[in-house]
Amino acid sequence: MDILNYLASHALAFILLAGLLGLIVGSFLNVVVHRLPRMMERDWLRQCREMLEPDKERPAEATYNLVLPHSHCPHCKAEIKAWQNLPVISYLMLRGRCGNCKAPISPRYPLVELLTAALSMVVAWQFGFGWPTAAFLLLTWALISLSMIDADTQLLPDIIVLPMLWLGLLLNSAGVFTDIHSALWGAAAGYLTLWLVFWAFKLITGKEGMGYGDFKLLAMLGAWGGWQILPLTILLSSLVGAILGIIILKSRGQSNATPLPFGPYLAIAGWIVLIWGDAITSQYLMFAGF
Ligand SMILES: [Zn+2]
Repeated sequence: MDILNYLASHALAFILLAGLLGLIVGSFLNVVVHRLPRMMERDWLRQCREMLEPDKERPAEATYNLVLPHSHCPHCKAEIKAWQNLPVISYLMLRGRCGNCKAPISPRYPLVELLTAALSMVVAWQFGFGWPTAAFLLLTWALISLSMIDADTQLLPDIIVLPMLWLGLLLNSAGVFTDIHSALWGAAAGYLTLWLVFWAFKLITGKEGMGYGDFKLLAMLGAWGGWQILPLTILLSSLVGAILGIIILKSRGQSNATPLPFGPYLAIAGWIVLIWGDAITSQYLMFAGF
């Protein structure tokens, strides 16, 4: 394949292509972040109703998934046409307003698209042309969705976390990012560490500082990078959490009692450590004089 040969030998072209792909995927991630929690809630409500009143006849529910119904303006309900759905470009062309009713569109949508593009380019740059980049792009996109969903709803959907955990183990059975033993222990120790912290914190303070989704997320990161990444990931996530937590609380003017989701900090820290963990550790050891 000529195009593959070209991309393998032209790093810049490959990075730009990853950025373009990131823009398109970012547009889809916006849909996932918005709809997946609503799909889960609809499903829970349906299960509850079926359990409480199993014999009752119910009208068929309107279809709601990641594809249908088509996107529409939340303000005037006008359907968004294909040309209005281009990542970033449409937002700029429409000057951040609905093409029909001129209601403002949240800048969050183009920002997520730009973020996805930027992180995808970093992955292509760091891992180069090959399968590790393809796998790590998937992980990056999953982590972006999980962070946004957790920030919005305090949920970390199993439907994203668990398949990514298995994928990490399967990839490492071929030694893509680490050896399989490190990956297995990474998954188990990742879960157990936060589980222990959760119960210690609960027994001492009577409060719940995090959720079971956080344990699974760290298990997933451990499955990708091995147990070796866990200490630095936990350390860095606490640091990111402390810094961002203060900024968010200051800007919102909320009291310290408001719970902040821990998932985004774990995701950010895990992503950084998976890419630059070795460099960070060796720099630190050099700095500390070892
Ligand atoms: Zn509108």
